This record gives sequence, C-alpha cells and structure tokens, in this order.
Amino acid sequence: MFAKKTFPGGSHPPTNKRRTQASMIQDMPLPQRVVIPLHQHTGAPAQPIVAVGDEVKAGQKIGEAQGYVSVPVHASISGKVTAIEPHLHPLGGQLPAVIIEGDGRDTWLEQPGEARQTSQSDSKAMVEAIREAGIVGLGGAAFPTHVKLSPPEGKSIDTFILNGAECEPYLTADHRLMVENTEEIVAGAKIILNILNCHRGIIGIEANKPDALAAMRERTRQEKELEVVALQVKYPQGAEKQLIWAITKREVPSGGLPMDIGCVVQNVGTAKAIFDAVVSGKPLVERVVSVTGPIVKEPKNLRVRIGTLFEELIQQTAGTVENPGKLIMGGPMMGLAQVSSQVPVIKGTSGVLLIPTDQAVIPEPQTCISCARCVDTCPMKLVPTELGKLVQHSLFKEAEKLGVLDCMECGTCSYICPSKINLVHLFKFAKAKILSEKRKK
Ligand code: SF4
Ligand code: SF4
Repeated sequence: MFAKKTFPGGSHPPTNKRRTQASMIQDMPLPQRVVIPLHQHTGAPAQPIVAVGDEVKAGQKIGEAQGYVSVPVHASISGKVTAIEPHLHPLGGQLPAVIIEGDGRDTWLEQPGEARQTSQSDSKAMVEAIREAGIVGLGGAAFPTHVKLSPPEGKSIDTFILNGAECEPYLTADHRLMVENTEEIVAGAKIILNILNCHRGIIGIEANKPDALAAMRERTRQEKELEVVALQVKYPQGAEKQLIWAITKREVPSGGLPMDIGCVVQNVGTAKAIFDAVVSGKPLVERVVSVTGPIVKEPKNLRVRIGTLFEELIQQTAGTVENPGKLIMGGPMMGLAQVSSQVPVIKGTSGVLLIPTDQAVIPEPQTCISCARCVDTCPMKLVPTELGKLVQHSLFKEAEKLGVLDCMECGTCSYICPSKINLVHLFKFAKAKILSEKRKK
C-alpha cells in the first residue's frame, strides 16, 4: 500500500466520474467553422495579425501576444477568415474573436512531427517554443506557461509537481490523457525539469484513478528524477497550494507564488502540450474535453479543436434526455455557468457539463446557524462565516484584512453550508470590488 497524501480541510462531493472514466478519448470530427477568441489566457489579449478574407492553415498564428504575460493564438483548422468581431465568450460577455470557415482539407502550416524540433539542451529556446506555441495552463486557469517556467533571478526551483489530481467532479479528461498519452506526458515532464534545472519531479494523482497511477508508475520506473504519488480523493486536491502542501508540506505565503517556496506546478495536459510544442513543433490548437452530466445520452472525452462551439460537442454525445437546466464550462464546483451553447471551446475548457433542471435550482439561503462547517473545511484556513457577514454589509476593507483575497473560489464553503448561503459568490464579488479599487488607485 502507498500512503495517500492530502491537505487540511476540503470536502467530499460525489465524484460522478464513472460515466466517462473508462471512455477512450475520441477525435471530434473537424468542425466546419471555428470561433477563436483572442483572449483565452490570463494577461493581455492577443492582437489579430490576419484580415478578413485571408486563407489560413491549421497551426498558423492568427493573433500575436501583447506583452510578457500573454500568448499568441493559432488557427485550429484550415480555411478562410470570414470575420474578426466580438462573439459570445465562455468567460462572459462578447469578446473579439477570429472566425474561420473551414475548407475541409485540414491543411497544416507544418505537419506536426515533421516540423522543426527544439534543442532540449537549450532552455531559452524551449521556453520560447512554448510561448510561441501559445501554451497556457490547461487545468483551467490558463496562465501563460512560459512565465511559470521562467523563475526570476535568485529563485531556484527544487521541486516540480505534475498535477494529475483532477479533483473536480465529473471531469475525466486528464485521467484519460494519463492512461492514453503516458509517454508524451512523461516526456513533457522531463522537458520541464530540464528547463527549470530541477532534479525532483513528483506526479500527484488522486487514488480514484488506479489505471492512471499504474500507467505512470510503470512508465517512470527507470526515471530517477520522477516519482508518482497517490493523493487522497478530496476536493480541492488539485488546487495548486493544496497540492504543494500535500506533497511537500510547504505553504505558499499569502499573496505569494509557488516559486517563492521552490515549487512549480503544471497540469498533465500542459505537459503533453509542451511535448507537442518542443518535440513536434505543434502549437496548442486542440485539447481534450469531458462532455458529460446526468442527462447526457452518451457522455464522452473528446479531442476537440479550439474554437468549436459547445453546441457541436453536445451533438457528438447524442444530446440530452431532457432540456438542461444548466450548462457549465468546467466542473460543478469551480465551473462557469453559460448563457448559451453557442460559445467556443477555449484553451481552458476542461469540461462541458449539462445539469438537469431539478439540480440547477438555486436554493433560498437561510440564516447562518454558526455551525462552523465552512471554517472547518476551508482549505485556505479562512473564516468564511465572518467574511460572508462583512461582505453582506459592504465592509470590504475589513474583509480584505480577514484574508478574502486569499480565497481561491473553490466553492467548498458554499457546498458544505447547511443554510445554503452562497458564500463563494459573495467572495468573488468582494474580490472584484477590492481589486478594482486597487487598480483605480
Ligand atoms: S471558496 Fe474561498 S472561503 Fe470558501 S472554502 Fe474555498 S477558499 Fe475558503
Ligand atoms: S457553514 Fe453556513 S451556517 Fe455554518 S457557519 Fe458557515 S455560513 Fe454559517
């Protein structure tokens, strides 16, 4: 038996992964049209470098990064640019996007695998290849990967953690990737170790994925710098700070970063994308998405071109047995509710979740009964009950003093609250308010 590592606090929502955990990844048919937002990552949006009427090939850069914390975007199919205009975005509102009508030929700028390879002894060249390929964290946060792989002078990294926890209920895209693309993920992890000049890599996988644990252990048996550890099944085990604590017992300081304590964390999907970029010269133009939920007829893990509309993914699963009450990008805990299925898959889309009407009803919040369950379960050791009261009274400065900015919006407190108080909603609001005040100053 291997000891299972974990962190203090957290909760145990039903994992609901059975429907897709054994479903092999299927390639989604080529979409006829894609909508590629220029803003798919944390940081400045990309600027278009194509014009309406241009012919483009798959893998061709169509948007240039603006600044250091930004990445380019690429065409995911070959065809003609028919519009550059605002379009419904899964993060909310309408944002500029490049719309491409496909020619059905799937002609690539450079065939993946035949394209130039990047020297794996040149860290700078590898980081540049990763940036040029438009790679961001594929666990959902979509933070530019080249930034995380470039610790500033004076900060050395002694531990790299590969995140295979996938603790969000329903989602199984990372699970299947670890089983089916083990080789590429491990090769990507070795590239990351090389870039960071780090000699300790730990692959953390929740214990409810025994086949992924076995595949990764088998593949890393001869790898002296890589170790696989089983993690307890607990939410939010895959959150960066909780994963670091579970594995190293180090705590990221308030307002700090993992690299402040010698750690870098990357998701398994990101490691695969890094392999594709460095070894095959392939930019990030597709990803695996779990399309699932209790009412989905044939839930699947689909490999999807970026820019494909959710509506088409849902059609691939034969639709739903009843009209959905809620459509979510991501999982039920941290995912984002969507107003329409006409939104495109972006780099951070890990799942498309369809919830029946009876589960989508938001219960009427009751008075706090001071049970302290939210306090016991908050993985950031915050006091959600007190924070909630402060925000309800618009006492934002006091909420900031009590650490609301450290809230990672995991939703554990809201999930556990017997009075059904939507605490996380209050904290998101407070954080936005405080940060906007700070920006004004
Ligand atoms: S949403 Fe914030 S306050 Fe609530 S449990 Fe998560 S980190 Fe704690
Ligand atoms: S869990 Fe809900 S009812 Fe209990 S103390 Fe926290 S806010 Fe109050």
